Amino acid sequence: MPFAKCAMGCTSPLVRTALSTVPVHGSTILRVYVTHDRRFVRELQVAIVWLDIRYHSAHVQVVSAMQRPQTTLLEHQDLLSHCRRCPRMQSVPVIGNPVVSGVLLVGQAPGPREAALGRPFAWTAGKMLFKWFGEIGIDEEAFRGRVYMAAVCRCFPGKRPAGGDRVPDPDEVANCSSWLDAEIAINKPKLVIPVGKLAIQQFMPVDKLDAVVGQLHKGKRNGVTFDLAPLPHPSGASTWQHVQPGKTLLPRALNLIASHPAWKAITTKDTKDTKESRTKNETR
Ligand code: SF4
Repeated sequence: MPFAKCAMGCTSPLVRTALSTVPVHGSTILRVYVTHDRRFVRELQVAIVWLDIRYHSAHVQVVSAMQRPQTTLLEHQDLLSHCRRCPRMQSVPVIGNPVVSGVLLVGQAPGPREAALGRPFAWTAGKMLFKWFGEIGIDEEAFRGRVYMAAVCRCFPGKRPAGGDRVPDPDEVANCSSWLDAEIAINKPKLVIPVGKLAIQQFMPVDKLDAVVGQLHKGKRNGVTFDLAPLPHPSGASTWQHVQPGKTLLPRALNLIASHPAWKAITTKDTKDTKESRTKNETR
Protein backbone atom coordinates (compact mmCIF):
# COMPACT_ATOMS: atom_id res chain seq x y z
CA MET A 1 0.00 0.00 0.00
CA PRO A 2 1.37 3.46 -0.87
CA PHE A 3 1.90 5.91 1.92
CA ALA A 4 1.50 9.67 2.12
CA LYS A 5 4.40 11.91 1.18
CA CYS A 6 4.92 15.53 1.91
CA ALA A 7 3.88 17.39 -1.25
CA MET A 8 6.48 20.03 -0.47
CA GLY A 9 9.34 17.62 -0.16
CA CYS A 10 9.94 17.99 3.55
CA THR A 11 12.51 15.49 4.73
CA SER A 12 12.20 16.06 8.45
CA PRO A 13 12.47 12.68 10.21
CA LEU A 14 9.50 13.66 12.35
CA VAL A 15 7.31 14.30 9.32
CA ARG A 16 8.63 11.31 7.38
CA THR A 17 7.93 8.95 10.23
CA ALA A 18 4.45 10.31 10.78
CA LEU A 19 3.58 10.20 7.09
CA SER A 20 4.85 6.68 6.70
CA THR A 21 1.93 5.56 8.83
CA VAL A 22 -0.74 7.27 6.68
CA PRO A 23 -2.13 5.04 3.93
CA VAL A 24 -3.19 6.67 0.67
CA HIS A 25 -6.48 5.62 -0.88
CA GLY A 26 -6.86 6.13 -4.62
CA SER A 27 -5.35 9.12 -6.31
CA THR A 28 -6.97 11.78 -4.14
CA ILE A 29 -4.73 14.73 -3.46
CA LEU A 30 -3.97 14.52 0.20
CA ARG A 31 -3.66 17.44 2.48
CA VAL A 32 -1.53 16.30 5.32
CA TYR A 33 -1.47 18.01 8.66
CA VAL A 34 1.05 16.17 10.71
CA THR A 35 1.16 15.54 14.36
CA HIS A 36 4.10 14.46 16.39
CA ASP A 37 1.57 12.56 18.45
CA ARG A 38 1.50 9.63 16.06
CA ARG A 39 -1.34 7.97 17.96
CA PHE A 40 -3.81 10.05 15.95
CA VAL A 41 -2.22 9.31 12.63
CA ARG A 42 -2.38 5.57 13.25
CA GLU A 43 -6.06 5.80 14.04
CA LEU A 44 -6.87 7.36 10.67
CA GLN A 45 -8.93 5.25 8.34
CA VAL A 46 -9.05 7.74 5.52
CA ALA A 47 -5.99 9.75 4.81
CA ILE A 48 -7.02 13.33 4.71
CA VAL A 49 -4.26 15.05 6.46
CA TRP A 50 -2.81 18.45 6.00
CA LEU A 51 0.85 19.16 6.42
CA ASP A 52 1.71 22.49 7.86
CA ILE A 53 5.24 22.60 6.57
CA ARG A 54 6.17 25.69 8.54
CA TYR A 55 5.21 24.43 11.94
CA HIS A 56 5.25 20.70 11.57
CA SER A 57 6.53 20.29 15.07
CA ALA A 58 3.57 22.17 16.47
CA HIS A 59 0.17 20.96 17.44
CA VAL A 60 -1.97 18.82 15.36
CA GLN A 61 -5.18 18.30 13.58
CA VAL A 62 -5.89 15.04 11.85
CA VAL A 63 -9.22 14.58 10.21
CA SER A 64 -11.28 11.95 8.54
CA ALA A 65 -12.87 12.48 5.15
CA MET A 66 -16.18 11.75 6.79
CA GLN A 67 -15.93 14.84 8.95
CA ARG A 68 -17.61 17.20 6.53
CA PRO A 69 -17.04 20.54 8.32
CA GLN A 70 -13.32 19.79 8.52
CA THR A 71 -13.12 19.02 4.82
CA THR A 72 -15.15 22.12 4.01
CA LEU A 73 -12.88 24.23 6.17
CA LEU A 74 -9.78 22.92 4.40
CA GLU A 75 -11.33 23.73 1.04
CA HIS A 76 -12.33 27.15 2.32
CA GLN A 77 -8.79 27.92 3.48
CA ASP A 78 -7.41 26.82 0.15
CA LEU A 79 -9.60 29.36 -1.63
CA LEU A 80 -8.88 32.05 0.95
CA SER A 81 -5.12 31.61 0.58
CA HIS A 82 -5.43 32.57 -3.09
CA CYS A 83 -7.58 35.66 -2.50
CA ARG A 84 -6.20 38.88 -4.03
CA ARG A 85 -9.31 41.06 -3.96
CA CYS A 86 -7.67 44.07 -2.34
CA PRO A 87 -4.94 45.71 -4.42
CA ARG A 88 -3.73 47.99 -1.60
CA MET A 89 -2.96 45.13 0.75
CA GLN A 90 0.72 44.41 1.27
CA SER A 91 0.76 40.66 1.85
CA VAL A 92 -0.97 37.47 0.94
CA PRO A 93 -3.63 36.22 3.39
CA VAL A 94 -2.44 35.11 6.82
CA ILE A 95 -4.48 32.12 7.92
CA GLY A 96 -4.84 30.23 11.20
CA ASN A 97 -4.89 26.47 11.59
CA PRO A 98 -7.80 24.55 10.01
CA VAL A 99 -9.51 23.84 13.30
CA VAL A 100 -13.25 23.27 13.44
CA SER A 101 -14.14 24.77 16.80
CA GLY A 102 -16.98 26.04 18.92
CA VAL A 103 -14.81 29.05 19.78
CA LEU A 104 -13.88 31.58 17.13
CA LEU A 105 -11.39 34.39 17.64
CA VAL A 106 -11.64 37.40 15.33
CA GLY A 107 -8.61 39.66 15.12
CA GLN A 108 -8.34 42.89 13.11
CA ALA A 109 -5.63 42.40 10.47
CA PRO A 110 -2.13 40.94 10.53
CA GLY A 111 0.91 43.14 11.09
CA PRO A 112 4.17 42.91 9.14
CA ARG A 113 5.59 40.19 11.41
CA GLU A 114 2.49 38.04 11.08
CA ALA A 115 2.69 38.50 7.30
CA ALA A 116 6.34 37.45 7.30
CA LEU A 117 5.77 34.48 9.61
CA GLY A 118 2.47 33.47 8.01
CA ARG A 119 0.37 33.07 11.12
CA PRO A 120 -1.97 35.29 13.11
CA PHE A 121 -0.90 36.91 16.37
CA ALA A 122 2.68 35.74 15.90
CA TRP A 123 4.44 38.70 17.48
CA THR A 124 4.16 41.06 20.48
CA ALA A 125 0.37 41.51 20.46
CA GLY A 126 0.11 37.72 20.28
CA LYS A 127 2.38 37.33 23.29
CA MET A 128 0.04 39.49 25.35
CA LEU A 129 -3.07 37.79 23.96
CA PHE A 130 -1.78 34.32 24.79
CA LYS A 131 -0.74 35.53 28.23
CA TRP A 132 -4.38 36.50 28.84
CA PHE A 133 -5.63 33.14 27.62
CA GLY A 134 -2.95 31.36 29.64
CA GLU A 135 -4.50 32.91 32.72
CA ILE A 136 -7.78 31.17 31.90
CA GLY A 137 -6.45 27.73 31.22
CA ILE A 138 -4.99 27.37 27.74
CA ASP A 139 -1.50 27.93 26.38
CA GLU A 140 -0.63 29.23 22.91
CA GLU A 141 -0.04 25.87 21.30
CA ALA A 142 -3.29 24.40 22.59
CA PHE A 143 -5.17 27.57 21.66
CA ARG A 144 -3.92 27.47 18.07
CA GLY A 145 -4.93 23.83 17.87
CA ARG A 146 -8.41 24.24 19.34
CA VAL A 147 -9.72 27.69 18.47
CA TYR A 148 -10.40 28.92 14.95
CA MET A 149 -8.47 32.16 14.40
CA ALA A 150 -10.16 34.48 11.92
CA ALA A 151 -9.78 38.22 11.29
CA VAL A 152 -11.62 41.18 9.84
CA CYS A 153 -8.99 41.41 7.07
CA ARG A 154 -6.51 38.62 6.37
CA CYS A 155 -3.78 40.61 4.64
CA PHE A 156 -1.30 43.13 6.02
CA PRO A 157 -2.64 46.60 5.13
CA GLY A 158 0.80 48.27 5.18
CA LYS A 159 2.09 51.18 7.25
CA ARG A 160 0.53 54.60 7.73
CA PRO A 161 2.75 57.51 6.65
CA ALA A 162 2.62 58.74 10.26
CA GLY A 163 3.72 55.35 11.61
CA GLY A 164 1.88 52.30 12.86
CA ASP A 165 -0.17 49.87 10.77
CA ARG A 166 -2.83 51.20 8.41
CA VAL A 167 -6.40 50.45 9.46
CA PRO A 168 -8.13 48.53 6.66
CA ASP A 169 -10.48 50.68 4.57
CA PRO A 170 -14.23 49.97 4.50
CA ASP A 171 -14.04 48.46 1.00
CA GLU A 172 -11.35 46.04 2.19
CA VAL A 173 -13.40 45.09 5.25
CA ALA A 174 -16.38 44.49 2.96
CA ASN A 175 -14.25 42.43 0.56
CA CYS A 176 -13.02 40.21 3.37
CA SER A 177 -16.33 39.78 5.18
CA SER A 178 -17.45 36.88 3.00
CA TRP A 179 -14.51 34.82 4.30
CA LEU A 180 -15.60 35.44 7.88
CA ASP A 181 -19.22 34.67 6.99
CA ALA A 182 -18.14 31.33 5.57
CA GLU A 183 -16.06 30.47 8.63
CA ILE A 184 -18.98 31.20 10.91
CA ALA A 185 -21.21 28.99 8.79
CA ILE A 186 -18.68 26.14 8.84
CA ASN A 187 -17.68 26.33 12.52
CA LYS A 188 -21.08 27.31 13.92
CA PRO A 189 -19.33 28.76 16.97
CA LYS A 190 -21.02 29.03 20.34
CA LEU A 191 -18.57 31.69 21.48
CA VAL A 192 -17.01 34.43 19.35
CA ILE A 193 -14.17 36.56 20.76
CA PRO A 194 -13.63 39.72 18.72
CA VAL A 195 -10.34 41.37 19.60
CA GLY A 196 -10.13 45.14 19.20
CA LYS A 197 -12.67 47.74 18.17
CA LEU A 198 -12.64 47.04 14.44
CA ALA A 199 -13.35 43.36 15.09
CA ILE A 200 -16.07 44.11 17.65
CA GLN A 201 -17.74 46.47 15.17
CA GLN A 202 -18.29 43.58 12.79
CA PHE A 203 -20.81 42.20 15.28
CA MET A 204 -22.29 45.18 17.15
CA PRO A 205 -22.13 48.95 17.16
CA VAL A 206 -19.41 50.18 19.50
CA ASP A 207 -18.33 53.65 20.37
CA LYS A 208 -16.23 53.04 23.49
CA LEU A 209 -14.70 49.75 24.63
CA ASP A 210 -15.91 50.52 28.18
CA ALA A 211 -19.48 49.94 27.02
CA VAL A 212 -18.95 46.44 25.64
CA VAL A 213 -15.89 44.72 27.21
CA GLY A 214 -16.64 42.76 30.38
CA GLN A 215 -20.11 41.70 29.23
CA LEU A 216 -21.42 38.75 27.27
CA HIS A 217 -23.54 39.79 24.27
CA LYS A 218 -25.72 37.89 21.86
CA GLY A 219 -24.48 37.83 18.29
CA LYS A 220 -25.86 36.59 14.99
CA ARG A 221 -24.15 36.41 11.65
CA ASN A 222 -24.85 34.44 8.52
CA GLY A 223 -27.77 32.70 10.25
CA VAL A 224 -25.67 31.47 13.20
CA THR A 225 -26.30 32.73 16.73
CA PHE A 226 -23.57 32.80 19.38
CA ASP A 227 -22.33 34.58 22.47
CA LEU A 228 -19.91 37.41 21.98
CA ALA A 229 -17.14 38.22 24.46
CA PRO A 230 -15.28 41.30 23.18
CA LEU A 231 -11.69 41.95 24.21
CA PRO A 232 -9.48 45.00 23.72
CA HIS A 233 -6.62 44.78 21.28
CA PRO A 234 -3.54 43.45 23.09
CA SER A 235 -1.03 45.56 21.15
CA GLY A 236 1.40 47.71 23.11
CA ALA A 237 -0.11 50.77 21.40
CA SER A 238 -3.36 50.29 23.32
CA THR A 239 -3.37 51.62 26.87
CA TRP A 240 -7.05 50.96 27.55
CA GLN A 241 -6.49 47.81 29.61
CA HIS A 242 -3.84 49.47 31.80
CA VAL A 243 -6.07 52.19 33.24
CA GLN A 244 -9.56 52.14 34.75
CA PRO A 245 -12.11 51.00 33.81
CA GLY A 246 -10.13 48.71 31.49
CA LYS A 247 -8.09 47.34 34.39
CA THR A 248 -11.30 45.97 35.90
CA LEU A 249 -13.17 45.14 32.70
CA LEU A 250 -10.47 43.01 31.06
CA PRO A 251 -10.30 40.41 33.89
CA ARG A 252 -14.09 40.43 33.98
CA ALA A 253 -14.19 39.65 30.24
CA LEU A 254 -11.63 36.85 30.66
CA ASN A 255 -13.65 35.37 33.53
CA LEU A 256 -16.77 35.38 31.34
CA ILE A 257 -14.86 33.53 28.63
CA ALA A 258 -13.44 31.05 31.18
CA SER A 259 -16.90 30.14 32.45
CA HIS A 260 -18.49 29.78 29.01
CA PRO A 261 -19.41 26.16 28.11
CA ALA A 262 -17.69 26.38 24.70
CA TRP A 263 -14.46 27.50 26.37
CA LYS A 264 -14.74 24.79 29.02
CA ALA A 265 -15.18 22.24 26.25
CA ILE A 266 -11.83 23.15 24.71
CA THR A 267 -9.92 23.60 27.95
CA THR A 268 -11.08 20.32 29.47
CA LYS A 269 -10.00 18.44 26.33
CA ASP A 270 -6.66 17.40 27.84
CA THR A 271 -8.33 15.80 30.82
CA LYS A 272 -10.80 13.97 28.55
CA ASP A 273 -8.05 12.80 26.17
CA THR A 274 -5.97 11.51 29.05
CA LYS A 275 -8.94 9.63 30.50
CA GLU A 276 -9.88 8.12 27.10
CA SER A 277 -6.35 7.03 26.44
CA ARG A 278 -6.12 5.47 29.92
CA THR A 279 -9.39 3.58 29.37
CA LYS A 280 -8.16 2.30 25.98
CA ASN A 281 -4.90 1.12 27.47
CA GLU A 282 -6.72 -0.66 30.29
CA THR A 283 -9.03 -2.51 27.89
CA ARG A 284 -6.19 -3.67 25.62
S1 SF4 B 1 -7.86 41.39 2.84
FE1 SF4 B 1 -9.27 39.67 2.58
S2 SF4 B 1 -10.50 40.13 0.76
FE2 SF4 B 1 -8.67 41.47 0.74
S3 SF4 B 1 -7.17 40.34 -0.48
FE3 SF4 B 1 -6.78 39.83 1.65
S4 SF4 B 1 -7.99 37.95 1.99
FE4 SF4 B 1 -8.75 38.89 0.11
